Amino acid sequence: MKPVRFDYKRPATIDEACGLLVSDDNARILAGGQSLIPMLSMRLSRPSLLVDIAHIPELTSLVETETHIEIGAMVRQANARASAMVKVHLPLLFKALAFVGHPPTRARGTIGGSIAHADPSAEIALVAATLGAEIVYRVGGADEIFDASSFFIGPMLTLAPPAGCLTKLCFTKAPAICGTGFHEVAPRKSDYALASAAAQINAEVGLGVTGIYLGVGSVGDFPEPLDVDGLIGTSLDDAVIGDVVHAAMEAVETVEDLHASAAYRKRVATELAIRALRDARDEISKDLNQ
Ligand SMILES: Cc1cc2nc3c(=O)[nH]c(=O)nc-3n(C[C@H](O)[C@H](O)[C@H](O)COP(=O)(O)OP(=O)(O)OC[C@H]3O[C@@H](n4cnc5c(N)ncnc54)[C@H](O)[C@@H]3O)c2cc1C
Repeated sequence: MKPVRFDYKRPATIDEACGLLVSDDNARILAGGQSLIPMLSMRLSRPSLLVDIAHIPELTSLVETETHIEIGAMVRQANARASAMVKVHLPLLFKALAFVGHPPTRARGTIGGSIAHADPSAEIALVAATLGAEIVYRVGGADEIFDASSFFIGPMLTLAPPAGCLTKLCFTKAPAICGTGFHEVAPRKSDYALASAAAQINAEVGLGVTGIYLGVGSVGDFPEPLDVDGLIGTSLDDAVIGDVVHAAMEAVETVEDLHASAAYRKRVATELAIRALRDARDEISKDLNQ
C-alpha cells in the first residue's frame, strides 16, 4: 500500500519549520521516519504536507552545560548511544538506548521522534519520564517547556502544542556517584517491550543517597514514574526495596492486549523494577564504600 499524495518541504531553520506547520494544519514533521513512514504506507497517517527537519543544524547538537545535557531532537539514537557525553553524564539513557529497536533503526531514528511519537513502550520516553527531563517545543516563535514526567497522557498522546516542533530534551547530569538499572521483557530481543523498568540512585559521600528515581513502561497507556522516596534514608536492602516497589506498583493500572494480560504485566513490571533498583544500589555501594 502506498501513502496518500503529500507535499514535501525541507526547511533550513526551526522557525521556517514552524511556519510550514502553521500553514497547513494537516502537516506532519518527518524526523527519522522509523515510525512515520510505516504509518504513511499503511495509511494510518495521511498528512497533506511533510516537513522534513533532518536538515536543520540546530536540531542535531549535543550540548553540555554546567548542570545539564541538552540533546537536539534530530540526534540519531545510535549517535546518542555512541556519545561519551551521554555515557558519562546520562548513564540510564545510555543503558536504555541499547534496547531501542535494532542497529539499522537506531541509525535513522531520533531522540525527539521517539518522544513525540509517544509509544507507551518507548524506552527513551520511559527514561525521560522517570528522570523528569525537560521537553522543549518551539511554537509560534516561542519555546514551551514540558516536564516529561507528566507530558505523556495516553498511547501516542502528549501535551505537545499543535503546530509545535520539539527542539530538544534537557536532562540533569548524573552526579559523580550514581547507580542505574534498566530491564525489559520482550518477545524477541529488540522487539517492543511487554514490560520495562528504569531506576537511578544518586548519592554523595558523607550524605549517602540524595535521590531515587524509578519508572515502569509498556504496562499502561504511557511511561509511569513511581514515587519511591520512601527508600531514601533506609538500608536499601532487598526486603525494603521489595516492600516499597510492591506498594508503588499497586497504584499502577496495567493494560491487557494480544501480547500479555494486565496481571502478567503488573507481575513482571514489579519484578523488573526491583531488579533495576537493586542494580542501581549495587553500583553506588561500590562507590560509597571506597
Ligand atoms: C523494526 C522497528 C523496531 C522498533 N523498535 C523500537 C523499540 O524497541 N523501542 C522504541 O522505542 N522504538 C522502536 N522503534 C521506533 C523507533 O524508535 C522510531 O525511531 C521512533 O519511534 C520515532 O522516531 P523517528 O525519528 O523515526 O520519527 P518519525 O518516524 O519521523 O516520526 C514519528 C512521529 O513523531 C513526530 N515527530 C518526529 N520528530 C518530531 C519533532 N521534532 N517535533 C514534533 N513532532 C515530531 C512525527 O510527525 C511522527 O508523528 C522501532 C521501529 C522499527 C521500524
